[in-house]
Amino acid sequence: MKTSIATVCLSGSLRDKLAAASAAGFDGVEVFEPDLVAAPESPEEIRALADRLSLTLDLYQPMRDVEGVDEAEFARVLHRAEAKFALMQRLGMDLVLCCSNVATATVDDDGHSAAQLRALGDVAARYGVRIAFEALAWGRYIDDYRRAWRVVKLADHPAVGVCLDSFHVLSRGHDPVEIERIPAEKIFFLQLADAPALSMDVLSWSRHHRLFPGEGAFDLVGFVAHVLRAGYRGPLSLEVFNDTFRQTDTARTAAHARRSLRWLEDAVARRLAEDAPGADAVAAPPLSRLTAVTPPRGFDFVEITAEDTSPIEALLQQAGFTARGRHRTKPVTLWSAGTARIVLNEQHARGTAPRLSAIGFAVDDPAAQSARAQELDTPAAYRRTYAEEVPLPAVVAPDGTELYWAGYTEGEPDWVVEFEHGDPLRPTEIGVVDHLSLTEPWQVVDETVLFYPAVFALVSAGSTDVPSPRGLVQSRVLCSPDGAVRIPLNVAPPIVAEQGRADGAHQHVALRCHDIVALARQARDRGLRPLRIPANYYDDLAARFDLPAAQIAELRDLDLVYDRDATGEYLHFYTATVGQVFFEFVERRGAYDGYGAGNAPVRLAAQGVE
Ligand code: MG
Ligand code: MG
Repeated sequence: MKTSIATVCLSGSLRDKLAAASAAGFDGVEVFEPDLVAAPESPEEIRALADRLSLTLDLYQPMRDVEGVDEAEFARVLHRAEAKFALMQRLGMDLVLCCSNVATATVDDDGHSAAQLRALGDVAARYGVRIAFEALAWGRYIDDYRRAWRVVKLADHPAVGVCLDSFHVLSRGHDPVEIERIPAEKIFFLQLADAPALSMDVLSWSRHHRLFPGEGAFDLVGFVAHVLRAGYRGPLSLEVFNDTFRQTDTARTAAHARRSLRWLEDAVARRLAEDAPGADAVAAPPLSRLTAVTPPRGFDFVEITAEDTSPIEALLQQAGFTARGRHRTKPVTLWSAGTARIVLNEQHARGTAPRLSAIGFAVDDPAAQSARAQELDTPAAYRRTYAEEVPLPAVVAPDGTELYWAGYTEGEPDWVVEFEHGDPLRPTEIGVVDHLSLTEPWQVVDETVLFYPAVFALVSAGSTDVPSPRGLVQSRVLCSPDGAVRIPLNVAPPIVAEQGRADGAHQHVALRCHDIVALARQARDRGLRPLRIPANYYDDLAARFDLPAAQIAELRDLDLVYDRDATGEYLHFYTATVGQVFFEFVERRGAYDGYGAGNAPVRLAAQGVE
């Protein structure tokens, strides 16, 4: 379908915004009035610029407080409208957003508002303009799309229809099903925004926290399905007021926004097909599709890059990893334990302290994965590969982590043979990579939450806040539905990110083992020094759980931390941090599905005094 974006979603000048929207592949834009008022270009110049960029100017917005007013105020509304409609003619625009009155309304009556919209419609029609009336969630009297439609129906004017905005409907918990009763020709425009589940006043929620589709808690897919079932075939337009996106790079945000609509169109097409299998394909809305992929089967490898990887090698060796050899042509070594593979890369790493630089996923269909990444306009990662090496496709995640994928094979992947002169894999307690925890700069986390589900079909599984000595760390988990791939994202407190503090930028690789007590003892015997956990923690543990004293003593002795819920138990310990990276070893007992979030503050504090 045709796609559009409100200029208010982006940072920069109006000229920058138009260029970025066009480059990202949008068909049109909504012109946010303050952007035009502040622009040095004349309306005619903006019109010509949009033309050159092949952008349509879809909606002029907003025109406020036009109905529900007394006679004297309505005379002023008409005066203002004439000026705006004349301006729209200069821009070559024919659709204006009028939102429900929040400030000047004194008459709470549908017939009164309808009569004023009808009169406004007469004026608009003289200028070739149509009015899309939107119920704001905080409108003084009209704050529900169903009432806005009632008023538009009463106005009964060809130049007056409704604008549906997902935020105003879903933030109030209004059931969107009644959208299907609005005749298609009366839905003049559709604005889309997601949002996190917050409990705060709707105005602040809307002005600061809107998100692109797929990043929040709203069922945007279901919402759009209702609108399309009503017969709407106009643009899918993004209207996202967000403090972060208004200060981040214009071109990048535009590309991110466009990706959200690519994801949404595909998800809506699938929802419509599921809800009505065998429906008439000719009447179906022209939604663009993505190549289908299944979530990764697991982690193929984790790569850590550093100028000197030997401190990491020492940790891996102590943990029971086997050195599997050096790459035939590059300063890269492979370490493995069970099916966990860690690649240590010293290539192009001058001055780099150890950091988690790449993740490999084992996927069912690498060709489909590549096609989908391309359809989503995902930035590709380029690495030099040599003749006779297994080519690995890759993209760059919003935080710069490179993501590779390879076909899933039983046993070891094909690329392992490129590593030579290693030792035979020895038995170990370690089975598999359990999770990779990434610290995200605050300005990319929303983009990341869309990125992994859109590209790799991971799902977003909730959010928690973890106190650290340097600020609150917001933690969000992306995972495959079967839990084979788990990526907790930690949002660094802004001050930590700005100062580049080591205790804010940690990433960790968690390895799942069969018997954590055995592993902890073996690792200690090989010289591993776990992160020291304070004695207070174990006193608290004894108070919280009815664990035998001997078990508490064992946990304390091995610096193991413990969690339990109704489904099972979680035991884990951590290594010291090297550069930005540390390792965690975990044992999941029963069906425990979490990450020991309750232990994270203790760990963060212990790392602070390391
Ligand atoms: Mg709106
Ligand atoms: Mg962890």
